[in-house]
Amino acid sequence: MPATPAWPPRSLPRLFVRAELVKGARVDLDAGQANYLGNVMRLGEGAELLVFDGATGEWLARIAEAGKKRMALTIERRTRDPEDIPDVWLAFAPVKRTQTDWLVEKATELGVAKLLPVMTRRTIAERVKLERLEAIAIEAAEQCGRTVLPEIAEPLPLARLLEQRDVTRKLYFADEGGGQAAASAFRPGPAVILTGPEGGFTDEERATIRAATNAVPVSLGPRILRAETAALAALASYMTVAGDWR
Ligand code: SAM
Repeated sequence: MPATPAWPPRSLPRLFVRAELVKGARVDLDAGQANYLGNVMRLGEGAELLVFDGATGEWLARIAEAGKKRMALTIERRTRDPEDIPDVWLAFAPVKRTQTDWLVEKATELGVAKLLPVMTRRTIAERVKLERLEAIAIEAAEQCGRTVLPEIAEPLPLARLLEQRDVTRKLYFADEGGGQAAASAFRPGPAVILTGPEGGFTDEERATIRAATNAVPVSLGPRILRAETAALAALASYMTVAGDWR
């Protein structure tokens, strides 16, 4: 569910909808969205909002029908084309649930294209629930103005990530043992940033990752960051020097 906004709202509500959007289309909302617009935002027939489907940009919509549990919109006009998301993925060792939720929310805001939960030797996360992570990413995209959602991959073991990867995609490895300074390590272009679990990578894992083709060990400074802080700091650094914050 979208977060409760400040009241009165300063801008139009934004919703992700699972329907292909075109001018004139009618879109039925699910019960949660209808409740949000009707009971939380107190909007009724004729009210405007913004919607996006993850593929066709952002659209102005109007509430055409408002029932107790159902709501239908009509799509009026496109307000934004889909944005170009930098081609940067975040492969992260999941941590505890609250911190993983936080990581997914913030990485979506920072502009990640794809999130890959990676199981390492010292990963001690509870089971990763993809549906929950997708819901968090949708809520963050609604809030921050993204028109394209990040893709969320099934969790995969570190060895498989390294075997299967396209080696032309640069692998930036956040290595607490040292590496190239983040300010000079990142370059524009397809990238995957890899960060470890709370216990760090084992020496064997570090050696394997460092030996991978097109891998760049990156230092995030002299302090040991918590796993979720490291993932987001690396992503923000990439966006600053090589992504769309330049
Ligand atoms: N237990 C490890 C230790 O004491 O050395 C620390 C692991 S740290 C909490 C979790 C992950 O964040 C690391 O595996 C690494 O990927 C990343 N990380 C944390 N601080 C970092 C730094 N200063 N430079 C690069 N990566 C860092």
